[in-house]
Amino acid sequence: MPHYYYEPVVTLLARPNFAAPDHLPVQWVGESTDGERLAEFAGRVCYMSQHNPAKRSTREYLENIKKQGHGSVLEHSNYTVLLEGVSRSLTHELVRHRAGFAYSQLSQRYVDESEASFVVPPAVAGDEALEAAWRAQVEDAQRAYVALVERLMERYGWVADRVHRRKMAREAARAVLPNATETKIVVTANARAWRTMLELRASEGAELEIRRAAMALLRVLQAEAPGFFSDFEIYQGEDRREAARVVYHKV
Ligand SMILES: Cc1cc2nc3c(=O)[nH]c(=O)nc-3n(C[C@H](O)[C@H](O)[C@H](O)COP(=O)(O)OP(=O)(O)OC[C@H]3O[C@@H](n4cnc5c(N)ncnc54)[C@H](O)[C@@H]3O)c2cc1C
Repeated sequence: MPHYYYEPVVTLLARPNFAAPDHLPVQWVGESTDGERLAEFAGRVCYMSQHNPAKRSTREYLENIKKQGHGSVLEHSNYTVLLEGVSRSLTHELVRHRAGFAYSQLSQRYVDESEASFVVPPAVAGDEALEAAWRAQVEDAQRAYVALVERLMERYGWVADRVHRRKMAREAARAVLPNATETKIVVTANARAWRTMLELRASEGAELEIRRAAMALLRVLQAEAPGFFSDFEIYQGEDRREAARVVYHKV
């Protein structure tokens, strides 16, 4: 029986490492992270206001940046996450976010999916009969995949390079795998880009699985860099699932 995921797994892989230059010292105030300071530093260069005349803390400074809609300074700070336990249909939606994003995703052409995991759609999870019917379809599809790979390996017997032959078989056989097949993707985006994506995908209008992932991502990023994400408010949607709304729209 394959493994079934009910939640995404989000791992933060990388954050900014700010090397403050000695010749332009900023009068920092308050607690902050390298990513937040980098954005403040960039913003202060615009007006050469390193002496911090308003004595703002980094997070107050960033609050004002968001309020004014000067989001371009947020683009200096990149965060990289590894997303696992998400479906191919989720990543199909995710990669529509282009500006400021970079992606590297598990390849179904190279990787054997005979023992792939699957992601239970949130709408199906929790209803025993529905889930049993759904699992039966998914497991049938996986059996069909295994059989197809075998037959295609025979059909491509004339291809001398075994690695290439396997790739040819897998890239064709994956056509029978469902959208629910689990995938892994490394995503890098700057803070401004993350905000745009989270605003759209944590909203009540978003598809349930990507909305759930957006909530998990939001929590990781809010804990990591509150100055960039603290204006996202988490609430219970009409459907009694979590959603988030933002104070500063599309900075
Ligand atoms: C609830 C929901 C339903 C959806 N349904 C569908 C659907 O049925 N079919 C479908 O195809 N898609 C659908 N989408 C995807 C949607 O159309 C967008 O592709 C996706 O949300 C990415 O948005 P974006 O282009 O603003 O984001 P990004 O690519 O991250 O861009 C961010 C911002 O940068 C600017 N920008 C980016 N690229 C350009 C550019 N080339 N030129 C000018 N400005 C640019 C824009 O201001 C843009 O908003 C849906 C999205 C949501 C949230």
